[in-house]
Amino acid sequence: MTSKDFAKIYKQLKVKPAKWQKALKHNKPKEKKFGIGSRKCGRCGRYGAHIQKYGLGLCRQCFREIAEKVGFKKYR
Ligand SMILES: [Zn+2]
Repeated sequence: MTSKDFAKIYKQLKVKPAKWQKALKHNKPKEKKFGIGSRKCGRCGRYGAHIQKYGLGLCRQCFREIAEKVGFKKYR
């Protein structure tokens, strides 16, 4: 788990709305605007080995699984 999934860290706080708001105000990590941390696999949520070409937005593992369904002929 990374700090980008910080909502998971505060799962217990969601039951207590006031404390949740306070935690958001003081501890929320900044939104990533560039770099590895800004791009996430749309299928599994992985950050590494991201394929942006053709607007895929997948990691290499998901691309490998999906490639032929999506229409890539030369990939095997
Ligand atoms: Zn993936």
